[in-house]
Amino acid sequence: MIARHYIDGAWLEGDAPLRDSINPADGSVLGQFHPGSAALLDQAASVARATFFASNWAAAPRLRAQVLFEFADRLWAAREGLTDLIVAENGKLRAEAAGEMMGAISETRYYGGLARAIQGRMQEATAGNFSLLHREAAGVAAIIVPWNAPVTLLIRSLAPALAAGCTCVLKPADQTPLIHARVMQCLADCPSLPKGVVNSVNENGAEVGQAMVASGDIDVISFTGSSATGKKIMAGAAPTLKRLNLELGGKAPAIIFPDADLDLAVRELTHGALVMAGQICVAAARFLVHDTIRAEFESRMIAAFRAVKTGPGADPSSQMGSLIDMAAQQRLLGIIERAGDEGEMLLQGEAQSPGAFLTPSLFRIDNLASDLVQDELFGPIASVEMFHDEAEAVQMANATVYGLAASVFTRDLNRTLRVSRAIRAGTVWVNSHTRLFAEGETGGYGQSGLGRLHGIEGLNDFLETKHIYIEAGQVGG
Ligand code: NAD
Repeated sequence: MIARHYIDGAWLEGDAPLRDSINPADGSVLGQFHPGSAALLDQAASVARATFFASNWAAAPRLRAQVLFEFADRLWAAREGLTDLIVAENGKLRAEAAGEMMGAISETRYYGGLARAIQGRMQEATAGNFSLLHREAAGVAAIIVPWNAPVTLLIRSLAPALAAGCTCVLKPADQTPLIHARVMQCLADCPSLPKGVVNSVNENGAEVGQAMVASGDIDVISFTGSSATGKKIMAGAAPTLKRLNLELGGKAPAIIFPDADLDLAVRELTHGALVMAGQICVAAARFLVHDTIRAEFESRMIAAFRAVKTGPGADPSSQMGSLIDMAAQQRLLGIIERAGDEGEMLLQGEAQSPGAFLTPSLFRIDNLASDLVQDELFGPIASVEMFHDEAEAVQMANATVYGLAASVFTRDLNRTLRVSRAIRAGTVWVNSHTRLFAEGETGGYGQSGLGRLHGIEGLNDFLETKHIYIEAGQVGG
């Protein structure tokens, strides 16, 4: 398979030499992609801009709904092949890849429905004078996607952008161009999609992303990726004052109170920490445990982590897949070594070969200021920290610069409400971890980002509100 660019309804190759896409589970070459360039990006952005103004796309909600339903049908028809491709190019488990496809299809249908339900308001503020508050498409949306969930994270921005009436320029991560190209094929096959509405350029290092940020033809950037890149995007977008939707990194705390159902907490947090080998922004990264149950919790978590079978995503007996690449494995091995020095290693992760495999790690630490507590580690590694009362648990949960997600394990309803409201995070799960779906808004407090995706608010960054004032004179005058 060779992944190309898609601009103005045509597949393009560009001039740069082909690059390989690698299967992280065995190092084999899966296919090639044509790397993009700033020139191709400028071409795509200019087509998207011209289409926005020359077509009726922004004023045709029924057409937009139709396109989204056609797209969902094509994703559904392609789901088995795409699931295999996600496993091969990303390394995650087949069940995780299948879940990613189902989530993406559900979300495409959800925004297909919402495309026909975007409404403004009318107000007669003074007699005979009418204010129409009209919700209209923001213009050209650029969508920048990471590698860890390349289908869901693309659809999570693309579906609301299309529902809102934006035209789009997309850019996948370097690590997952083949998955992206297969999704683009589903879109290109939609009979109702006007050409030029969706355009896509493959990455080449960071050249294409940077060109998007600088482009004068783009109005909104919807970026999912690390907080470090988010900051560069914010700085790069300042000269053109683009609107930004930033879905960034996280360091999710899970607070386990003494009255928690420990069987449930251990089950949820094993999955919450190790799903996608911990390479998910909302991964349960910090286990904050009450001192009275620390020993019991630790021994159960160690047993649960140790029991997880790491192996190729395509093998049905695997319970955790590979990391994205060998560089990630080397980076995480260094972190594990430091965790043993700075804290107490409870279960030491080990590299498995061939491929980018790493078994789960658990360490105890009592230094809130440590980088190991403060920074996103993005792998199958979690820390245990101890608290003595509810106030301390909340203070510890809020002690990082991130605020993407958190979870609380307790049977006490009053505590549930108190603590979940006190936590500074966009999502708080109670007696569960990692529940993401189309209807429920996600997004970050603090350095986890700006704006929301999913749900009705997921449309907001792709819409402008226009006030049209009509002076109709005095009623009866
Ligand atoms: P990354 O920031 O390195 O890359 C993300 C995307 O940005 C890629 O497409 C990359 O090519 C592009 N990019 C890199 N430099 C750029 C630049 N200067 N200008 C424009 N684009 C640029 O992140 P990653 O390693 O691919 O993904 C993992 C990160 O994504 C983690 O931090 C994770 O928490 C975060 N993430 C967040 C969410 C969320 O919903 N908040 C979801 C998934 C992943």
